[in-house]
Amino acid sequence: MVRRIDLHAHTTVSDGTLTPAALARLAAREGLSAIAVTDHDHVGGIAGARAAGGVEVVSGIELSAHAGKQEVHLLGYLFDESNERLLSRLDGLRAARERRAGLMVEKLASLGVRVELPVVAGAVGRPHVARALVDAGHASSIQDAFDKFLADGKPAFVSKEKLSAAEAISLVHGAGGVVSFAHPVLVKEPEATLRALVAEGLDAVEVAHSKHSPEFRAQVSAWARELSLVETGGSDFHGENKPDVRLGMMDVPYATLDALRVLIARR
Ligand code: AMP
Ligand code: ZN
Ligand code: FE
Ligand code: FE
Repeated sequence: MVRRIDLHAHTTVSDGTLTPAALARLAAREGLSAIAVTDHDHVGGIAGARAAGGVEVVSGIELSAHAGKQEVHLLGYLFDESNERLLSRLDGLRAARERRAGLMVEKLASLGVRVELPVVAGAVGRPHVARALVDAGHASSIQDAFDKFLADGKPAFVSKEKLSAAEAISLVHGAGGVVSFAHPVLVKEPEATLRALVAEGLDAVEVAHSKHSPEFRAQVSAWARELSLVETGGSDFHGENKPDVRLGMMDVPYATLDALRVLIARR
């Protein structure tokens, strides 16, 4: 039997709805062999997921970066979670997220839409503001809150402080890890962006993702082979914040982790 893993999952440490321990328990129930906890700008969930037992938990992070004019998401894996340079940069990014959440709430207030500033122990993001909008009766669902107010171009959108792709890659490499380009389907020019990221030192690309069609997946896989990138995959699980996404749904083989570890061992 092929051992299955999921290399893209969020917890309550960022914008997921399961605690790190509950995520690990779900992974064990689903029969997964390993998961990567990939919260936005935060590594605090990894230890808690690991402590729950029942499934191998590898370090992960999802960083927002800019590559030219595009926002890209980069997944870091298998790095040292106690790396000082990484941790201090993450602290700065989370402080910027707090300021941004305040600005979004102010923008909403100026539109006559009153919501409480979400209180989040980890990295606050738009899904938390979206939840507050639903709870206050201003939106019917998280998606509705994005469509009405929070998506790029909508009236309460506030852009986020982002690393350059080069800095994001350097931070993860400096901590001993590898970097994969998350959900390339979400950028406007996936091929050009992928090639630009490779020039900055990218190691891998997320081929299997819950938003990728079979055709797009085949296309990304062809690019990965041409560019000698490891093919990673994950669901981008967020619990109830993305009700259609199931942990483990991408059927990623354990051999993916082996391939990433080979890259690190060869450095
Ligand atoms: P943030 O990092 O605060 O900008 O929030 C990003 C999160 O919001 C990601 O997890 C996305 O899944 C979610 N998100 C971004 N854009 C949308 C959208 N248009 N509709 C629904 N969710 C979105
Ligand atoms: Zn997220
Ligand atoms: Fe993402
Ligand atoms: Fe994600």
